[in-house]
Amino acid sequence: GIGKASTIPKRQEISFEDIGGQSSAIKELKEALDFIKNYQEIKRLGIRPLKGIIMTGPPGTGKTLMARAAASYTDSIFVSASGSDFVEMYAGVGAQRVRKIFQTARESAIKQKKKSGIIFIDEVEVLASKRGQNASHMEYDQTLNALLVEMDGLKVDDNVRLLIMAATNRVDMMDPALLRPGRFDRQVKVDLPDKNGRLEILKLHTSNKPLAQNVDLLQVARETFGFSGAHLESLTNEAAILAMREGLKEIYHRHFHEAVDKVIMGEKLDRRPNP
Ligand code: ATP
Repeated sequence: GIGKASTIPKRQEISFEDIGGQSSAIKELKEALDFIKNYQEIKRLGIRPLKGIIMTGPPGTGKTLMARAAASYTDSIFVSASGSDFVEMYAGVGAQRVRKIFQTARESAIKQKKKSGIIFIDEVEVLASKRGQNASHMEYDQTLNALLVEMDGLKVDDNVRLLIMAATNRVDMMDPALLRPGRFDRQVKVDLPDKNGRLEILKLHTSNKPLAQNVDLLQVARETFGFSGAHLESLTNEAAILAMREGLKEIYHRHFHEAVDKVIMGEKLDRRPNP
């Protein structure tokens, strides 16, 4: 549900060091965040505050991790929702939920004595697709308008400075009104990792696992072209399960090798149309 993330007692804090293979995305994002941190200077110079950052790219590449890392980097509270949370049958409910999440963010920032908050909206295209293109377009239009109104209302000297981070793999579906200056005017591409990126991610997700001497993660990285971070995380988990099934105390290279196929197979099964 909306805002749940902020009320759940701290899950492990995520920092940029926990994200593998996204150095250019992280660099771009940090630049934008450093800019925001300088809010007194921004105010003094009369610069329009940066309100929204949109992250684009395929699923499972770390967009959610990036938003959470951005929150710890800027010492902000973190509130998250998915575009589909705002889709309701009844007119006005989506818009109400948009206003509610902004309110929740402000309130929990005050409660936690923080000066800023990050609102993360995953699958934003669901709520922000081009107006007039949805079946029940009136309702969508209201929801999107509510988001635009909230964003337009953000000021640099607000008690709680809010930044909206949104993620989508369909930036082409977004209403252009959202991409105009003063709204989501920074775009950060979060692509599938290359070989070195995959190696970094594999290292991160095996750091808590006992690896046998013969494990060659570079080789695994070579074999996993097209895998996302989420696939790689799942691969390391599968490898550990395979080792456990054999009653072993360590994970061997062959387990990783076998897990590659498992993850690929799993993907194929997932993609089967529903009966
Ligand atoms: P979606 O668009 O499907 O929401 P996403 O891009 O937000 O996906 P995340 O939710 O951030 O992806 O990633 C899912 C999980 O995959 C993470 O919790 C993490 O375990 C792993 N993961 C994904 N990308 C990375 C990465 N770059 N480095 C380390 N782990 C990653």
